[in-house]
Formats: sequence, C-alpha cells, structure tokens
Amino acid sequence: MQTFPLFADLAERPVLVIGGGTVAERKAHALLEAGARVHLAAPELTPQLKLWTEQGKVLLRGQQFDSRWLDEVFLVVAATDDAAVNQTVSDAAEAARKLVNVVDNPQLCSYIVPSVIDRSPVQIAISSNGTAPVLIRQLRQQLETLIPQQFGNMARIAGRWRGKVKQQLDSLTERRRFWETLFSSRFASAAQSGDTAGAEALLQAQLAGGVPQHGEVTLVGAGPGDPGLLTLNALQAIQQADIVFHDALISDEIMTLIRRDAERVPVGKRGGHHSVPQEQINELLISHAKKGQRVVRLKGGDPFIFGRGGEEMQAITAHGIPCRVIPGITAALGASAYAGIPLTHRDHSQSVLFVTGHTCRDENAIDWDTLARPRQTIVVYMGTVNAARITRELTQRGRDAATPVAVVSHATRPTQKVHAGTLADLDALANQAAAPALFIIGEVATVQHESLLSNVENMDSGMNTAIANTI
Ligand code: SAH
Repeated sequence: MQTFPLFADLAERPVLVIGGGTVAERKAHALLEAGARVHLAAPELTPQLKLWTEQGKVLLRGQQFDSRWLDEVFLVVAATDDAAVNQTVSDAAEAARKLVNVVDNPQLCSYIVPSVIDRSPVQIAISSNGTAPVLIRQLRQQLETLIPQQFGNMARIAGRWRGKVKQQLDSLTERRRFWETLFSSRFASAAQSGDTAGAEALLQAQLAGGVPQHGEVTLVGAGPGDPGLLTLNALQAIQQADIVFHDALISDEIMTLIRRDAERVPVGKRGGHHSVPQEQINELLISHAKKGQRVVRLKGGDPFIFGRGGEEMQAITAHGIPCRVIPGITAALGASAYAGIPLTHRDHSQSVLFVTGHTCRDENAIDWDTLARPRQTIVVYMGTVNAARITRELTQRGRDAATPVAVVSHATRPTQKVHAGTLADLDALANQAAAPALFIIGEVATVQHESLLSNVENMDSGMNTAIANTI
C-alpha cells in the first residue's frame, strides 16, 4: 500500500467510531484530543467511554452500526473484535466515500494512522505503510531521544514573531536567511532549554540587526564510558555542536554519536601528560565561541568532578560568553553500579568521599584524619601513583589494614575489571589495573553482587546500538 501523508484538521468535525472496548476508547481519546466530535456505536462501553457519553463529550448513536450515520461524518474508525462487523463498516464507508480505518487490518483500511512524535506545534508522523509496525516503534523511540522535548518551543516562538519579521524584512530571501541564522544560533539552545524570554531577546536582537551573536560553550559530561550512560541533554548537545574539544578518555562509541560534520579536537590528558595546557584549552573554547560557534567541551564523567570544569566555566563566563553545564555520571557512580559495590550501605557506611590521589604529595592538600575515619567509603580518583602512600597514611591514623578495597578499571566498559583485596594490598592491586582506574575503600567493597555480570552484558544493549546505528 502506498499512501498519501496528510495532517487532518478534525476540530469540531464528527468522526464515527464503531466499538466500545479499550481500543475504541484509545481511538476516541486521540480524536477528542484533536478536537473532533466523536460519534460512537457499540453494545457495551468501557467505564471511561460510558463516562464520556454521560458527560456529553461523546455522542452515543446506538448499539449496532447503521450505514445512514456515515452521511454526517468525515472519517470512520472500526475498532471491534468482530470481523463481520469490521467488514460491513469498511464496505459501507467505501460505498459512502468516507475514509475508514479498521484497527489492525490494513486490507480493510482506506487510511492509516501514523506513529507520531509530538513536539507541538511540531509533529512528526512516521509509517511503514503497514509493513513493519515494530520497526516504526523502534525508530520512534530513537527519534524521541534525539529531538529535544522543548523543540516545539522554537516553532511556537517563531509563530508569534512571523508577522513582525515579515513586516520588517521585505524579501523572501532575507526572511529565509533570517530564520536559518536564528535556528542555528544560540536561540535554538535557549528555546530548547525552556528559556523562552532569553530566546525571544535573541530573536529581537537579530531582527534589530545589531548585537553580533556570540556562540556558546557547553561543558558536557560524557560519563565513564558506556554510551548508554549519556544523558539525553548530552546527546543533543553533541548532535548540535559545531566543534567538540574532547578528553582522551571518551569512548569510541560516544565519539561516533557526535554530529558528523562537527570538527573534533582532542585536548585530553592521558597517563598524566597534559597534551594541551589548561590555559590553552580555555583560550580555544573562548575564541571559537567568539566566532559564533556552538562549542562543546566533552569531558569524561562529570565536568565538575576532578575535571577542571569549574576553571573552564569561570574563564568562559569572564569573557561574557554563555556557558551551560550538562552533568555526567561520574566514574565513581559508574564503577559502583557496574561492579555491584554500593557506595553507602546501612550496615557499613554512612557517607562517601570522593578524593583525588593526584595531590597526595602536597602535604596540606588532603585531610588524612578525616579520610581515616571508620564507617565511610572513600573513592580515590587518579590514585595509582600514590597507592602505597594512601595505605600508609590511612593505616597510620587507625584505619584497619584489613579494610576491604576494590580497584575498578575501565568502569562501565566491556573491558571493566575489578581487583578486590584489602587496604594492605592497595598498591599491588593498583599496579595490576589498567588505566583509568579508581579505588573504592571501605567495608562496602565486599558487598559485590550479581549486578556486575548483568550490567556488563547490558553494555551493548539494543538502545545504544540502535542510537549509534541511526546517527
Ligand atoms: N571528571 C571525571 C574524572 C576525571 S579524573 C569523572 O567525573 O569521572 C580522571 C580519573 O577518573 C582517572 O584517573 C580515574 O581515576 C577516574 N576514571 C575516569 N574514568 C574511569 C573509568 N571508566 N573507570 C575507572 N576510573 C575512571
């Protein structure tokens, strides 16, 4: 079947629904949402349909289908489980030249209802013309994740300003250029993050022809590796970026999700080597944003946990450039979940501390007395080089050398490994572990459970693969 796609205005227009079960109820609900007047015929009604007829929202025409009712309606829906009735309705509608849909029976339909992604006033309708509804459902799920919830806000604002823009810009070309520039500027992210006032101010500024538009910088947390741990906001930001400055630790699966045309610039540190000094990274972010580009700084884990995101944000905003931060799952949380080690547990640990092992040599940087306290969990980032020192300082202050520890490397990736032992062995465990790795120190490290396996198996879950395949 090859169909002609159209969007029908059913407001105040009568539509006949045959059937009184849950499917008919769903159809009636969708029609009412579109403003249609629903005429119904069925011997029995669901409680909801009954209520709607009592409230006058739905007009009950009778119990059995009567072809004379077809004269009054624009469309027909047959949603009964009686094949003979469905056939009769389909034939009668055809004879009366009314479009008819028989639920789940493409042969009897003269129109089908597409699957819809609703970002009102923007609607995206998709259909396989009856060949593969499940495939269409999957496609819909993928599109749902890619199109920001507030996408319709752009259209709503544009709709409000269309008249003014038309008044001010005479030619069609000028207007087209105006909207093209606007939709690919910071207006888009403002509107999509729900900042309608900010978006309208940007529109107004562009219309006034003044204020050259700055770009923006978004600090995006990419999580510890598994692309399934990206947030929807992170995915959308890397899909809209003009240029992405990324850490070395970002997994290949996540790199493939970046918009194809975006420029990618590695600025990461690997094994403690700063490939690009921080000052220079800040300058790069600022200079590209000043050119009007949408800049993403893509960072491992969370931008504000040992990621220098704070420094970058300060430098960017000091230049008056808008800066957004999208949080990510920090390595400690990824390691905890995928290794099956809860960071707090009523029986063992009432608090958790995230510390960096990087500054261990600086005498005053770390409060060892606090770290040595019992009944808490310590997660050490960047600790490998100083593992022996960590054991020494903690045991000297009374933490038991038999305290359980787990060194988790490549957390949330298919290559994840957990090396478990005690505080006394920390240095040996750390040296066996491939970078990047972190330490979980505390009684909780013995509480590993089966989630380790189930999560590792889930890493290639359909969703991730599906998203990667579509982009
Ligand atoms: N901002 C990041 C941390 C950056 S510091 C976050 O929130 O996760 C880099 C350190 O993080 C590494 O030395 C290591 O200790 C830890 N790390 C990052 N990714 C990791 C992973 N997948 N598995 C284990 N540790 C990881």
